[in-house]
Amino acid sequence: MTSQSVAGWKGSDDPRALVLEAKGTLSLRPCPVDETLGPNDVRIANHTVGICGSDVHYYTHGAIGQFVVNEPMILGHEASGVVVECGKDVRNLAVGDRVCMEPGIPNAASKAAQLGLYNLDPEVRFWATPPVHGVLRSHVVHPAAYTFKLPDQVSFAAGAIVEPLAVGVYAVAKARAIAGNVAVVLGAGPIGMVTVLAAKAAGCSKIYVTDIDDSKLDVAAQLGPVEPINILNDSLKDAVMRGTEGWGADVVYECSGVASAAAGAIDVLRPGGTIVFVGIPLEPIPYDISKAQIKEARIEHVFRYAHIFPNCVNMLASGAIDVSPLITKTFSFEQSVEAFELASNAPTGQIKMQISFEAR
Ligand code: ZN
Repeated sequence: MTSQSVAGWKGSDDPRALVLEAKGTLSLRPCPVDETLGPNDVRIANHTVGICGSDVHYYTHGAIGQFVVNEPMILGHEASGVVVECGKDVRNLAVGDRVCMEPGIPNAASKAAQLGLYNLDPEVRFWATPPVHGVLRSHVVHPAAYTFKLPDQVSFAAGAIVEPLAVGVYAVAKARAIAGNVAVVLGAGPIGMVTVLAAKAAGCSKIYVTDIDDSKLDVAAQLGPVEPINILNDSLKDAVMRGTEGWGADVVYECSGVASAAAGAIDVLRPGGTIVFVGIPLEPIPYDISKAQIKEARIEHVFRYAHIFPNCVNMLASGAIDVSPLITKTFSFEQSVEAFELASNAPTGQIKMQISFEAR
């Protein structure tokens, strides 16, 4: 089901890209991108690209918040591939290396980058966020500093999931989770799932996972010490309080972006616990400060990730994290439009769908 890493894969010579022409219109057509290989860049032949909720949202809505698709844009930002050319000053990579790529490039001279908060640089250029092209095309030029070598045992499919996985691992780092913690993950979409994997890898003893889709909860239940809760039938609060002698969870990861779920996070948190807001709500949501004060809750927010891709690659290599249950369907590049049409219908049972340039 997953596309395997195949030694010697040289890249696609398909001249086309998957272009979002405007809201609701996709085409597979040549779309030249003006890219020159700088001394610190590598040229990569893309192998696998994951379909993200944000790609689908640009397709169906033409915008996410302040980012509006005003001109044709190539989609895709979750990618792995093979280095085919190195700039003259590149030291960390060589031609033939299998790699995954961090899709946001900050301005290195920005205040945010100087402070190490490069993901918060207002000037960051992030693939498939207007007006920056994404990577559903045969090749891309990228800074070597944001390109990470994949060990042999990490497949291209797993490499292309490092991008969403990084969000989960970063959320767990923000929580300062310790081994033995009890966690709650609200929402079993792809980001909820990778947060479960990251929380488990950090030693969580129990993870309550909520959703309204049993097929997603069934997948979540396979990932670790998970108690799945369909909130249409069962009370999360009752389950957590029963399981913690009325004390509450140490960490709550809000991954749904849904107002009612976010509002309930504080009700299942223990005194002195931590809530991490990971999911991005499409509208402002209410937040009860006094409830949070009574528990002296620590609140963290995450925006994408920073400094975390190497940790993710290392955990895939060691087996500490296994993403294979999340990769539910692989399409060929030729099937890209079809893949997005399917993804836009939010099919049950699908977690992460990917497009492989090698698949036929
Ligand atoms: Zn993504």
